[in-house]
Parts: sequence; C-alpha cells; structure tokens
Amino acid sequence: MISIMTASPWQYFPLDELACKCGCGQMRMDTTFMARLVALRRQLGIALPLTSAYRCAKHNAAVSATGAAGPHTTGRSADVRVLGNDALRVIDLAQQLGFTGIGVMQRGVQAARFIHLDDLPNAPGRPRPWLWSY
Ligand SMILES: [Zn+2]
Repeated sequence: MISIMTASPWQYFPLDELACKCGCGQMRMDTTFMARLVALRRQLGIALPLTSAYRCAKHNAAVSATGAAGPHTTGRSADVRVLGNDALRVIDLAQQLGFTGIGVMQRGVQAARFIHLDDLPNAPGRPRPWLWSY
C-alpha cells in the first residue's frame, strides 16, 4: 500500500477517516483488516464512521499510551463511532469476523463513544484475543 493517496480504495470508508490525523497524510491500512471492516459494515447495515484509523508513530505517541508502536501504527486498528445496541452488535460480529482486540469506550457524551477494533496476533504484552475498556 502506498502511503499517500487521493481517494480511499475501500467502500464506506473515506480517506479522511482512514488517514493519520496529524496532517502527515499517511494511510497504510492493512488489506486483510480492511476486508474485515468492510464485511462488518455490510453486515451491520448502518453507517460506521471511523474516529481514528491509521496513525503514524509520532502521532500515536502523542495521543495514546501505547506509544510509537501501538496498534494504530500497524494499519490493523480502527475506532468506530457506535453506541447502544449497535455497539453490542459490533462486539458480536467483530468476534465472528476475526477481530482479536476489542476496546470499549461507552461512557460520557454520545459523540465520544466508540469501539476499538484490531486483528493483531497474540504477542508479549499484547494478549489476543482481548477485551478492554477505556
Ligand atoms: Zn501522522
């Protein structure tokens, strides 16, 4: 995957949602992860806005406790804006589709609620499958 693109190659997920938010313009999403995300979107049948997807190492270190090598720097993570019953459906379908990391942020104002999804393998310090809350 080239790092700078002018349009998203994936239906439902525009480039501005997939690319790093620091302004660097990088977007290195993993094709297998994105196939899972497209399948999730199709099975849900509702809009699935991404609040965060690809992050460069510098940006991830600035916004996440996972530092410069966190899940979002792999192109195999995305945070989907979803809540309530739709969030429950995401958690259920995500497991069926092979996502291995599910992070739940469902408190506070509705606009800030999301579910983190990744499909990373099990690793020291990063067990998978795994569920956590923020
Ligand atoms: Zn960046």
